[in-house]
Formats: sequence, C-alpha cells, structure tokens
Amino acid sequence: MTNLKVDVTNLNKNYGDNHVLKGIDFKVASNEVVVLIGPSGSGKSTLLRCLNRLEEPTSGSIIIDGQDISNSKTNIDKARENIGMVFQHFNLFNNLTVGQNVELAPTELGKISKDKAAQQAKKLLATVGLADKYNAKPQSLSGGQKQRVAIARALAMNPDIMLFDEPTSALDPEMVGDVLEVMKKLAKNGMTMVVVTHEMGFAKEMADRVVFMADGVVVEEGTPEEVFDHPQNDRTQAFLEKVI
Ligand code: ADP
Ligand code: MG
Repeated sequence: MTNLKVDVTNLNKNYGDNHVLKGIDFKVASNEVVVLIGPSGSGKSTLLRCLNRLEEPTSGSIIIDGQDISNSKTNIDKARENIGMVFQHFNLFNNLTVGQNVELAPTELGKISKDKAAQQAKKLLATVGLADKYNAKPQSLSGGQKQRVAIARALAMNPDIMLFDEPTSALDPEMVGDVLEVMKKLAKNGMTMVVVTHEMGFAKEMADRVVFMADGVVVEEGTPEEVFDHPQNDRTQAFLEKVI
C-alpha cells in the first residue's frame, strides 16, 4: 500500500494486567474507507483512541500522515488537528448554539477569523443537512441531528482523516439513516475514514476494506465480499451470524 495515512505496526495496549491490543497491524491508505467490526470488548475503541493518543500505547508504532505520534518530539496537538473523531455520544456544548459548537475549535486555536469560522460553519451545517440550525441550541435537536452537528464540528478542523466510533449506536433507529447518509457523502468525496459500526449495510456499501477484530487481534480482513460472503475464520463466521 502506498501513501499510507495510518500505519500501525505491532501495537500493544495493556490496562494493568488486561492485554487489550495484542500486536495489531493496521494500515489505512489515503482516501480509503475501512470499517472495523468485532464483538464488544475486542479492542476497537481502544485502537481508535490510540490513533490520536487519547490512549497511550504500551508498545508499537503509530505513524499518521508520516508522523510518528508516539514520539515525544511530535506535536500531538498539531497531529490531532488532522484527525477528526466522532463518538457514540456527541458531547456538544449545550450552553452554546449549534453554530458556536462548530466554530469553537478552529477559532480558539486561532486557525481562522470569527467571520471565516462562521462562514465555514454554515457551509458545514449545510453539508450535514442542518443549514437552518445555525442559531439553534443543541437541546432542541434530535439525537441524529446532534450527531450530524458533531460531524460538522469535527470537519471544521479540516481533518484529512475521520475516525468514527459507533456513531449511530446511541440513536433511535429512524435517525440512523440520516447520519449514515452524511458519512456516505464524506466517503464519496474522498475522505479517509475508519468506522467502527454494527451497520453492516453501510460496511457492504461503503467499505473498501473490512477489518474483523476479536480479543485484541485482527482476525481477518478483506473486501466486504470477502469478509461477509466468504469469511475464512470461525470467529468471523460466528460473529457475522449474530449481527447479520
Ligand atoms: P470495543 O470497543 O471493541 O468494545 P474496547 O476497546 O472498548 O472494546 O475495550 C477492550 C477492553 O479494554 C475491554 O476489556 C475493556 O474492558 C478494556 N478497557 C477499555 N477501556 C479501558 C479503560 N479506560 N481502563 C481499563 N480497561 C479498559
Ligand atoms: Mg467500543
């Protein structure tokens, strides 16, 4: 694979005696959409959180965009600006408007002027289908709308990779589609994405590659056809039988 955005080699993570990531190799090319699946507790969130060092790896190497993010000389704040992250729980600031939530990070970091940030926020809110919510307060939004604001907020830093950790798991079923549509749009526009999800329809339609993790290791990976239609490993088969 040339032009790797994410190049993780032999990543290990321990929480005390709990060896959670056991020598993970995980590569993502530019513009690639990788869907990460696996049972609860297999280490998917831990892997994502290691990528922007919300978690400190125990050992192994993590290179993002050519930068070694586990090197103490690397400016981690700068590196994080290029990595957008969207979680299951959106954590919007309820005392701010939707627009202010989206503008906050780029203006606080002095990346752009307030005027430019407002312009950009309106554009991003239009992208996620919420052009009319610029002045709204988060409390007035549905869960799906909040999650789309969270996506707009992550995009406001102009990241070149987006990490999604079960972005639709906390949503009422009727809200899931709108959020997935926004993610599809991003993928079609060439965003490099790592998506942890149980939405197998999304994975089948959008993933360039599906990675199946269990018990802290990558068990199997391949195209959606390979993994979903011809899983090679018993554990992959057993998992898919449960979720599909
Ligand atoms: P997944 O996202 O696949 O469900 P996680 O990465 O959340 O898996 O968790 C993997 C394992 O690491 C689990 O055994 C979990 O209990 C443990 N774990 C996750 N986060 C922490 C933490 N902050 N402290 C201690 N143990 C943790
Ligand atoms: Mg998780």
